[in-house]
Amino acid sequence: MESCNTPACQSARDIFHELEDYYDDHNLYFQTVSSVLEAANALEVPHRLKLILSQPKNEIMFHCPVQMDDGTWQLFKGYRVQHNNVLGPYKGGIRYHPEVKLDEVKTLALLMTMKCALARLPYGGAKGALKIDPRAVSRAELQRVTRRLTAALGNNIGPDYDIPAPDVGTNCQIMAWMADTYINFAESSTKVTARGVVTGKPLEFGGSAGREKATGQGLVYVLDELLPGMGMEIGKLSYSLIGYGNVGSWTARLLQQRGSTLITVMDHTGAIFHETGIDAQKLAEHVKVTGGVAGYPDAEVISSETFYSTPVDLFIPAALEQMVDLEHAKLISCKVLVEAANAPTTPHAEQYLLDKGVAILPAILCNAGGVTVSYFEWKQNRQSETWDEEVVDERLRKVMVGSAKRVLEMADRLKCSMRVASYASAIEHLDKVYKMRGVFP
Ligand code: GLU
Repeated sequence: MESCNTPACQSARDIFHELEDYYDDHNLYFQTVSSVLEAANALEVPHRLKLILSQPKNEIMFHCPVQMDDGTWQLFKGYRVQHNNVLGPYKGGIRYHPEVKLDEVKTLALLMTMKCALARLPYGGAKGALKIDPRAVSRAELQRVTRRLTAALGNNIGPDYDIPAPDVGTNCQIMAWMADTYINFAESSTKVTARGVVTGKPLEFGGSAGREKATGQGLVYVLDELLPGMGMEIGKLSYSLIGYGNVGSWTARLLQQRGSTLITVMDHTGAIFHETGIDAQKLAEHVKVTGGVAGYPDAEVISSETFYSTPVDLFIPAALEQMVDLEHAKLISCKVLVEAANAPTTPHAEQYLLDKGVAILPAILCNAGGVTVSYFEWKQNRQSETWDEEVVDERLRKVMVGSAKRVLEMADRLKCSMRVASYASAIEHLDKVYKMRGVFP
């Protein structure tokens, strides 16, 4: 494959050279740093900020020995990457996935720094992962693994230091076990606030109203703000979706309430299509029972190629990273690509789609609803308050609309793509705070 010759890639190569750290051009972390540096270069921020943002502060790697139900032992590899904390405690999800790698976690941690900064939340960025297939273990095994992972993280997490949350393959039950384990280790004087160590907890145990649907809800608020400027109306749209987990299924249910039509969905079990629309609620019930979209009775089974090439207004990847590559981009026929997942589009696919006139709404804007309501949950925990769903939704709407406006203004100011604009707005904010705080010592 050809190497990348853009100024952004050259900047990333220069920075990594200076740091004596080397990546190939196809590495996700290299690519993400390149686009962050493209934004930094457009702003002319100090070189030291580029160096700081190009590497995480801490990369923690650990192994959890856990006894399985059949008496055998397994060793699970875990990661917590703490990218930056100049704005506040490290913040970001923990994912459980069998294929997870350190560079992926580093990428996601960097994106959390950018996401929290763009939304102007008082948080830094982090991400964690455990190399495990959560579907392949029992509930009791999942609980033991989770408690062991929490113990292994020890004081590397805490409500004032680093606050995990759900991500791919984790949910509110896992957060409840993490919080419970952490509380058991906490000193008696801090037990009340110790539950703030994780967000995305169940409602009955310190969770927030509106947290489960928050990422989907935030995305809908972003569409409300941005689509009219592109001559589109949310109630008259057709769309396709990759992934029907928390983010995908909530996005679909909320878009359905607003009158949009889900034409095709693809997940790890297959792809389905219905010309006049798939019922998002019924599909969510089917996926809850069967684990995937395959076998859903009221739709036609289609190939992955047909899935990508079906014409729609919005194309919404809501699963793992890099699912939209150049091959897929050549098939896609949409007006707007809405990144609900983190880093779902490869740089080549992005360039191809932009050249074709497709607008790309970047992930750090579109999916910031999750961490924003995580922030509301953490605030409620600290103040022993419980906010109604209407209050949460309204405050979420304000944050999402504010971020969308900042991205538009920056894109206009720098004459750049919305992705570069979203990073630029985040970096400008981080730069201001670094200048005010100074770099210790
Ligand atoms: N995992 C989510 C994300 O990637 C949420 C993170 C959080 O709530 O801290 O944004």
